[in-house]
Order: sequence, then structure tokens, then C-alpha cells
Amino acid sequence: MDYQTILEKVSKAVAPLTGEGKVADYIPALANVNPNKYAVCIDSIDGNLYAVGDADERFSLQSITKVFSLAMCLSIKGEELWTRVGKEPSGTAFNSLVQLEVEGMPRNPFINAGAIVLADVLLTSFPDPEARFLSFVRELCGSDTVDYNLEVAHSEREAGYLNAAIVNLLKYHKKIERDVEEVLAFYFKMCSIEMNCKELARAFLAFANHSRFDYAGVSLTLSQVKRINAVMQTCGFYDEAGEFSYLVGLPGKSGVGGGIAAVYPRRYSVAVWSPRLNSKGNSVMGMKTLELLTTETMESIF
Ligand code: GLU
Repeated sequence: MDYQTILEKVSKAVAPLTGEGKVADYIPALANVNPNKYAVCIDSIDGNLYAVGDADERFSLQSITKVFSLAMCLSIKGEELWTRVGKEPSGTAFNSLVQLEVEGMPRNPFINAGAIVLADVLLTSFPDPEARFLSFVRELCGSDTVDYNLEVAHSEREAGYLNAAIVNLLKYHKKIERDVEEVLAFYFKMCSIEMNCKELARAFLAFANHSRFDYAGVSLTLSQVKRINAVMQTCGFYDEAGEFSYLVGLPGKSGVGGGIAAVYPRRYSVAVWSPRLNSKGNSVMGMKTLELLTTETMESIF
């Protein structure tokens, strides 16, 4: 398949959408991002890289990092992890408090409440969780310059009233062990990691379920990787997971930095970045790019 030509065609086709949507500005440091940036990159398991646009420019991964924390937590806890967090789609916004109030346990690891529980699992599992998480992520993406962005993390803490409410509710329900401020700070720090589309595609190639998953001491069976794909498919796009599944048909995860990473199992991973988001928090051009990619190639899991 000539992916380079397809990506060029798709990126031209989505160009008229430039200007649609709105950059996430509830994290003050993200409001300054150039909204017109756009990149898409495919990394294939046969060793080829295809890229268009600003694919060397790093951006804030935000919720995409929840896939990395899930991988780490699953490798530590195995199936027992699911006693701490559910695996059902939420159908509500990523930062919603409503279900947590009623159910007492986060619906899945990809909404904020669930990922905050994952942060607690990592904090209680390692003496040096920040360093561990970073070395895992660096090994996944093959770059040792990938890092936390402390300015973004601090900026989010300053405006993070809703996540502070979530962590307090979790503490009230005895779902987290560590101190609320410590958990929140680590959660924001994980969200602040930055990568470019080439690095992000490389990081997700590990989830394309094609070989041994063993990075910086984090090892998963292929069955566990398959299950992470299942959670991405059902819960990876906030309350738009059904729409993404319908339009694109690949497991993936989005973030409010405007990135989306997805995998075509056993074939390739794809990363796309465009900062303007729709009302659900997903990148407008990013979603359209992936929809056109799987339409052009006729390659999806369905
Ligand atoms: N750090 C962001 C928050 O907690 C992540 C949201 C996202 O990317 O979905 O609001």
C-alpha cells in the first residue's frame, strides 16, 4: 500500500476544516499553541515511516498518556487492576463527576477519574514512579529527550479545580491510597509529556500487537496488549467512542492537546495532531484524517 501518497491525499482533503473547532484553553499553557499545526505519521511494523506536515514538532499528549499508564499498571497488577477501575465506556465527558458520585468507582482507565486511580497505583508500586514512567515512555517511543513539560503540569494544577474535585471524591470512596495532592501532581505530570507525531506513532507501534511487549521492565503478554486495544476501542474517545469506532474503526486514544494515536493491529500505528477540538474534546482534523485514511485504504478492524 502506498501510504505516503494516501496521507498526502488525505491531508489535502482535510485542509478545508482548518479553523473548525477550538483549542483546549482550560489548561492555560495549552491556549498558546498555534492552532493551525497539522501532522500525520504512520509507522509500520515492516519498518517504514510515512509522514506529512509538522511531524517533528512536539505537542502535549495529555490523555493519550493514559494508555501508557494503563500498560504499566496492567503489567504490575494483572487482572486484579480491574477491582480498582472498570472497563466500560462512560458515555459521559472525560472529566465528569456524575458517574463517580453514583457508582463510587471510575468506569474506565481513560476518563480522568480512572487515570487518577492509575496514578495512585503507580505511586504505591514504585519508590521513583516519575522516573519509571518516563523511562518506559522513552523506551516505547525510542527517544531519550521526550520529557514532562513542567510549565504545562503546573499550569494545569493552578486551574485544575475539576480534577481536584475528582481526586477528593475518589479519596472519599477509598479508591486511592496516597495523598490527594501527590496523586494529582503525578497525574498532571504524566499528562504533560510531549512527543511529535513520529515519536507517538513509534510509541503506539508497541500496541499493534505484533511482537513481544517488553520496554524498560514493563512487560505484557500479547493477550494483555489485545485487551488494552479493546479498552481503547470502547473507551478511547471520551463520549465519542462510538462515533470514532463508526467512522474510523481502529483502536486509539485522543488527548486535549489535539493528538490522536491509533493502531491497525499487526500492521501499523498512526499518530495525528491538529490542536482544534470538537465539542467532545477530540481533534476535528485528526478524526477526519483517520476516517479518510481507513476509507481510502479499506483497512480497519471491521
Ligand atoms: N490533563 C487533562 C485533564 O485532566 C487531560 C484531558 C484529556 O486529554 O482528555 O483534563
